[in-house]
Amino acid sequence: MDLWARQSHGFSSSEGGTTKRRPRARRRVGWLRYINDFTSPADAEKNVGPALSAGTPYIIHLCEGTDIETRDYFDNLKKADGSSLIGPPLVTIHCVALDGPQFQTLATNRGAGVVWSPLSNFLLYGATTKVALPRQAGLPVAIGCDWAPSGTKNLLGELKITKLVSDHEGGLFTDQELIDAVTHVPASMIGWDSYVGSIERDKAADLVVREEPPSG
Ligand SMILES: [Zn+2]
Repeated sequence: MDLWARQSHGFSSSEGGTTKRRPRARRRVGWLRYINDFTSPADAEKNVGPALSAGTPYIIHLCEGTDIETRDYFDNLKKADGSSLIGPPLVTIHCVALDGPQFQTLATNRGAGVVWSPLSNFLLYGATTKVALPRQAGLPVAIGCDWAPSGTKNLLGELKITKLVSDHEGGLFTDQELIDAVTHVPASMIGWDSYVGSIERDKAADLVVREEPPSG
């Protein structure tokens, strides 16, 4: 399972270097990097550098695994002069292999936040992000589905899983914090908070309105 996950979901070096632009009619608001850790600082700077320099969001599936080798990919997020590549537009999905020091590095360099996808993590790796650690470091945490083969099919499904995990871990998130993690937190991470993420005038939202049945 782990080998399959590595080959198909993002760790082989042969897949390194691919980027995909997120289509957007009015202006480019970000690049989406599917899976793949960077295999060297040069690879990281080549791919992340232009996006972060332009101030556009860059989303990567980072250190998606549980072993030391996977965690070591984190150290490639630096420039040739040794300074960090991490910056405000960098959104990091998974971070399963990371521990406190790496989350602190993300926070110190003002990374946008971490996206947590526990169902996919558990099915593929038998473990998920140590999600209390990024929160302790002060990083925003959003919730996502990862991808279709191992993830939930929508955010309502993932919310069920995150609620179960949160409760199992002693109540990591309040219900409100879980809702925040699928609404304004991710919107802010990628700079879309003036368009979506909260119910406000001139913002887009999908709403379900129901009439309360009469009481008594
Ligand atoms: Zn993933």
